[in-house]
Amino acid sequence: MRGLKTLIESSDNLANGIAAAPGIVIGKAYIYKKEILNINQSSVEDVEEAIQLFHESLEKSKKELLKVFNVAKDQMGEKRSEIFEAQLMILDDPVLISTIERRIREEKKQPESVVDDEISKYQQMMFMAHESYMRERALDIEDIKNRIVKNLQKKRWESKISNDVIVVSDSITPADTILFTKFNVKGYVTVYGGLTSHAAILARSLDLPAVLGVHGATENIKNDDTIIVDGFHGLVFINPNEKQIEFYQNKIKHLEEINASLAELHDKPATTTDGKEIELFANVDVSGEVHLVITNRAKGVGLYRTEQIIEELGEFPDEEQQTKIYANLATRLYPQPLTIRVFDIGGDKVKFLDHEEANPFLGLRGIRLLLANPKLFKEQIRAILRASVNKNILLMIPMVSTIDEIIVSRQLIEECKKELQSAKIQFDKHMQVGMMMEVPSAAVMAQDYAELVDFVSIGTNDLIQYIMAVDRGNDIVNYLYQEFHPAVIRTINYIVHGSKRAGKKVSICGEMAADTLAIPLLVGLDLDSFSLSPAVLPTAKKVIRSFSYESAKTLANECLQLNSHEKILKRIEQFFAENNIKRTRNIL
Ligand code: PEP
Ligand code: MG
Repeated sequence: MRGLKTLIESSDNLANGIAAAPGIVIGKAYIYKKEILNINQSSVEDVEEAIQLFHESLEKSKKELLKVFNVAKDQMGEKRSEIFEAQLMILDDPVLISTIERRIREEKKQPESVVDDEISKYQQMMFMAHESYMRERALDIEDIKNRIVKNLQKKRWESKISNDVIVVSDSITPADTILFTKFNVKGYVTVYGGLTSHAAILARSLDLPAVLGVHGATENIKNDDTIIVDGFHGLVFINPNEKQIEFYQNKIKHLEEINASLAELHDKPATTTDGKEIELFANVDVSGEVHLVITNRAKGVGLYRTEQIIEELGEFPDEEQQTKIYANLATRLYPQPLTIRVFDIGGDKVKFLDHEEANPFLGLRGIRLLLANPKLFKEQIRAILRASVNKNILLMIPMVSTIDEIIVSRQLIEECKKELQSAKIQFDKHMQVGMMMEVPSAAVMAQDYAELVDFVSIGTNDLIQYIMAVDRGNDIVNYLYQEFHPAVIRTINYIVHGSKRAGKKVSICGEMAADTLAIPLLVGLDLDSFSLSPAVLPTAKKVIRSFSYESAKTLANECLQLNSHEKILKRIEQFFAENNIKRTRNIL
């Protein structure tokens, strides 16, 4: 991105904002201004008529929102369209409705002024909330208020926009976003709104580039100005010059090439031909990868290797730095989950000790090192908790080999919660705590360990090295690093069953999940989800969509009976031939 740096430095027509939804678009700006509503403050003569009018406008607003809700469901699926369901629930809130009725009756005020007043109170409460997502939901409520008031005033909901424009506005409500899709809007620039605002979430769902929080956007950009929106970097170029247009046209072309081959799979789930969905999450090593997580439609991050931050910074980040990094990632992903694995230091990763260990892979690594350095560990736990206010963070413990390690870790987490509570710092009280199953002692006692955590993720990179007693980075013994060794797949099977008996979900986050050849076997072994490098996610999806769960189960059962790596590999290759799947091993 050196070219971009030079371009930015030489630009005086550039506005900065938050990179809210990835993608690049060049087009004409459309300044979207909302009408300011005048509220009639006069008194009413006929109270019963006013109450009836209020109910009629409630019904009309409900019908309108229901329509938006249905379009949203079509375009974004059930989960994402829940925003509108929540809005509809407000229109049915019995306390709100009876309060408004009572006030119209007692104060003889126009329904629109009581509606304005009461819903504004609702909003005020939300604006004062600590959680940023609650504050942003307050903006959504503005939409409901305006809708009821307009219906009370019997005004039409203005919705005239030109086609194919980039909308530039002060703020955008979820309903606006849906309306815009009808006009084939190409992207958004707004003055207000953050990463967790629904405008941002919906823009990501609808795959529209968006830059939010651009100060002065509606003043500095005029209708019909040409603008470039770079949703990857949060940049808006106003009336770009030839050099800037050429630069971005090349970027668009490059993006199109990458996306073309996998485009047809974009909105399709990772479902087997007989309908079993495998949830695909992404592994993130460096925070810059997060836009790939979003563009490749991962269900969230299944493994964030935080020790990489130390590599990136060249030093240990303190609690404040960590809080910022985690909160930033979590808001970018919101509402999808971010699984933060606490520092897995040692082994062949970041060095911590001054002296060399004879066997670093069997030494002070992962949770062992953290428990030996509780100050460091607690700083990280507090940072994770502080970043968890939006309730989409999970904490994961690496290299667990004894039950005590889980118990003590959970005690430290509770201590940190108490400290934050007495400092009146907000966090997610119910943040889930999971463990990596990657050490044989844990695998052998899978159910007992799983009972003590909220979720389990199998780290095959280490599990294979410890089961096979072969250094994962040593070329000389690489031939023994066999992911299809019967001991490996039987252990995975054992972990899955043990964890499920404990009522816990099991995921796999080692490289094995990204090996096309391993995917049908892993599906047949009943893993609930995979976490893999975001760039390979579409390819994994393609493989999953080409076989049935039933045939994968048969494959797994047969492989569990075989006694050598070679025989299992042969059986898998046969499966690929039978199902006509391209055998692209380890090219991911
Ligand atoms: C693993 O061991 O499989 C894993 C995902 O963790 P890492 O590669 O970071 O050790
Ligand atoms: Mg590991």
